[in-house]
Amino acid sequence: MGRRSCASAPVILVGILVGTIYYTVVFVVIEEWLGLSSASGLLNAIFFSCLTVMAIISYMLAIFRDPGRIPHSYMPDMEDESTPVHEVKRKSGDLRYCQKCESYKPPRAHHCRVCKRCVLRMDHHCIWINNCVGHNNYKAFFLFVFYVVTACSYALILIAGYTIEFLRDDEERTHSSVNQQTGTSVSAPVVLKVVCAVILVPLSVALIVLLGWHVYLLLNNQTTIEVLGPNLLTWPCPTAISHIGSGLKFRTSHDGTEHDDSSE
Ligand SMILES: [Zn+2]
Ligand SMILES: [Zn+2]
Repeated sequence: MGRRSCASAPVILVGILVGTIYYTVVFVVIEEWLGLSSASGLLNAIFFSCLTVMAIISYMLAIFRDPGRIPHSYMPDMEDESTPVHEVKRKSGDLRYCQKCESYKPPRAHHCRVCKRCVLRMDHHCIWINNCVGHNNYKAFFLFVFYVVTACSYALILIAGYTIEFLRDDEERTHSSVNQQTGTSVSAPVVLKVVCAVILVPLSVALIVLLGWHVYLLLNNQTTIEVLGPNLLTWPCPTAISHIGSGLKFRTSHDGTEHDDSSE
């Protein structure tokens, strides 16, 4: 029952990636292109820093927040009028029971083989946060993906803009002073920019697909309000989750029909 270790190779890799991309975008691309002392450079740096900070906060919450465990006292209340439907096993029709945790499973709860316990409203076990994505950290995980997709796209736009500007300047320089032979050694910042661009393109594509998938799930499987909250202003905040409830009961698509059948 010991506390799981939060640091793992993928988590450390994410940390290194975030650090490298942040350094390259702010201190190489923005600094060399616009200059951090200029208004446009500073604004871009502040905006990119805000995205990075929000992504890191969401990431930390997704890692450290317990995804949700079933209380020891949990028993499905068969007489409860507010939840007329209980998830049952497909074959036998019995209430879902976890042999390993020795407890009944609320709707949407599943046993995670990696975490070795049942997790409320389990989405999946994610190696990149070394934790399950479940009831309590789903919003943090979703916002992490959202902020990273936004930051990656923004970084790609900055790198592309800078590269176009750099190539144009380079062309002008070679045309105006043909006799001036500058050294062609590749500097460390150039390597960093190329490495960043090479990492960012597939990363952005993969994350956009992931974000699209979760937006699809949000819109179909659960209402967006259930995960993001009723107040539009608190949607971007990963800590605003007072609306999510206990995770032991959910409205299901059966609720309306079943309720009608039993009550009338
Ligand atoms: Zn279990
Ligand atoms: Zn897990």
